[in-house]
Amino acid sequence: MKILVINAGSSSLKYQLIDMDTEAVLAKGLCERIGIDGHLKHTPQVEGKTVFDEDVAMPTHAEAIAAVIEKLTSPEHGVVSSMKEIDAVGHRVVHGGESFASSVRITDAVIKAVEDCIPLAPLHNPANLTGIAACRKVMGDVPMVAVFDTAFHQTMPGKAYMYAIPYEYYEKDKVRRYGFHGTSHRYVSQRAAAMMGKPIEELKLISCHMGNGSSIAAILHGKCVDTSMGFTPLVGLPMGTRCGDLDSGVLQFLMNKYGYSIDEMLNILNKKSGVLGVSGVSSDFRDLDEAAEKGNARARLALDMFYYWVAKVVGSYAAAMNGVDGIIFTAGIGENSASTRAAIVEYLGYLGCQLDAEANKGRGKEAFICTESSKVAMMVIPTNEELVIARDTKEIVSGK
Ligand code: AMP
Repeated sequence: MKILVINAGSSSLKYQLIDMDTEAVLAKGLCERIGIDGHLKHTPQVEGKTVFDEDVAMPTHAEAIAAVIEKLTSPEHGVVSSMKEIDAVGHRVVHGGESFASSVRITDAVIKAVEDCIPLAPLHNPANLTGIAACRKVMGDVPMVAVFDTAFHQTMPGKAYMYAIPYEYYEKDKVRRYGFHGTSHRYVSQRAAAMMGKPIEELKLISCHMGNGSSIAAILHGKCVDTSMGFTPLVGLPMGTRCGDLDSGVLQFLMNKYGYSIDEMLNILNKKSGVLGVSGVSSDFRDLDEAAEKGNARARLALDMFYYWVAKVVGSYAAAMNGVDGIIFTAGIGENSASTRAAIVEYLGYLGCQLDAEANKGRGKEAFICTESSKVAMMVIPTNEELVIARDTKEIVSGK
């Protein structure tokens, strides 16, 4: 069975074609500038096929999908002989609200329910829906599955997901903590249990997804019981450009003082804040490390704030679960930055965490980074959201 995984943004579309017999990626690629002009980079992963990296007209997502299918089936760049070989499509959908606690086969009713979630994710869900509509248009009745970023967090209890504001805003408007990166937290927690050789139902895990966007999840016996992102992905840890937790009184103060509209204010909090805003250097941790090493005090401060926040949230989740058996580091920073992991673990001695400095030097590979005597297992686990989407799609489409 071959499954096409689609992650559609407002002007971009990422894809992977995965052979589910081997779980090997056959090809992957990225369409950019959809609706503007259009560019496709298609990278086959099989020998003898060449990369395509050129401008292609993409007035809408439908032309983008058509170009992807054309490249997937072309003699020069392709990895399948015709579209008929693509058995199913798995779509990443950001927000499933309270309607979706797991992945589902896409039907008209599902599309309607995802549309109903647009007010909760006004930027992301419309883009995901456009990707679904484009695939339906180009690929006809190929079965399709939606995999939600929020679904894994639907097991959180009310005490974790409720905000302490008048209850009617939850009842009427569904204002609550949802959490994101759920597909990643689910994947790495399952991998962690496999690495530890224990059933996930017996484990207390904390998963730190640290990339451009960052979130942490407390996973008790395989179920998410708390997570640091909220109603939107803006809160929790300071991130590349997002502010993380912030006293909402700051909004009123700055908006009054500078006459910002709410959109201008949120643009600052989403795009100009986080480690970029504090350092004034970059949102990329590699640049921050370099600047801090050269003595840039604000880059140092931004990094220190990030480490401190991760450690604080990990500590609060250990408290929430009355202990922790394993801590997972994943995503761009978590998988690659030994210095970030080491700085975070410095705070965690009281939990019995002991870092193996040598093992921690590794990058981008599944590995334990704790000593034999560490009371808590600590692991680097590269995330693989596309594989989870493909696995869910296979399971749902084949009815298993
Ligand atoms: P992601 O959103 O998971 O793709 O993560 C992207 C982020 O990972 C980048 O913005 C960098 O901050 C970070 N990153 C990637 N490689 C490294 C590295 N070798 N050291 C530190 N940070 C890294």
